Amino acid sequence: MTYAQKLRAALLDQLGKDWLVFMPRWDVQRRCAWQGKGGVPAALMLHHTAAAATDSVNPRAAGNQKGANRNVITYIQTHYEVPAASFTLDRDGTVYVHSALPVWHAGLGTFQGKPPWNQLGIRADTANDHLLGVEIMSKGLKKDFTVAQQDSLVFLLRACRDASGWDNVGLLRRPQHKSWTTRKIDTRYSDAEIGAMITKYGFTDAVPDPSRDA
Ligand SMILES: [Zn+2]
Repeated sequence: MTYAQKLRAALLDQLGKDWLVFMPRWDVQRRCAWQGKGGVPAALMLHHTAAAATDSVNPRAAGNQKGANRNVITYIQTHYEVPAASFTLDRDGTVYVHSALPVWHAGLGTFQGKPPWNQLGIRADTANDHLLGVEIMSKGLKKDFTVAQQDSLVFLLRACRDASGWDNVGLLRRPQHKSWTTRKIDTRYSDAEIGAMITKYGFTDAVPDPSRDA
């Protein structure tokens, strides 16, 4: 089974088909093969788009409807030769799957001296070769993720866990872009706030990794 096949099965299992849009060539678009252990990604990096039709969290707001942010999703899919994220998480909770394989999203940065992520064994400036990345649709000016986005993020993380063979979705597996590089501020949420979105469901696999204290 290829990684793309595993990812598709895990996404359908965790999110369900009504919350998924597989973009053209999602299973083949890539820069390279997954580097690192087992030929699978090491984590899911969290981003915000810094562009969105609204920062209202009202689910009935026009900018939170399916298709309202189509221009941003198209940009991420087509701006470069390969997509600019593995996934886009729209404000209505829909997950657009751009690629199951390494693309562009992390840029220059490092996890050196930054536990627990220093344990991932990723050399400086090579995160794109090792990490999935989700662009969460948000103006990025404040904490404006909709409830639908928060819910889908939890199940997206769990799908990545299942496809990649991770034990949990603790801090190790969900670094934020701002932890990779001080050039970036995404997302506006703290790691603990992201963890709380997961534990809200009663899922216990969001607990900080023991390695966090190392
Ligand atoms: Zn980012």
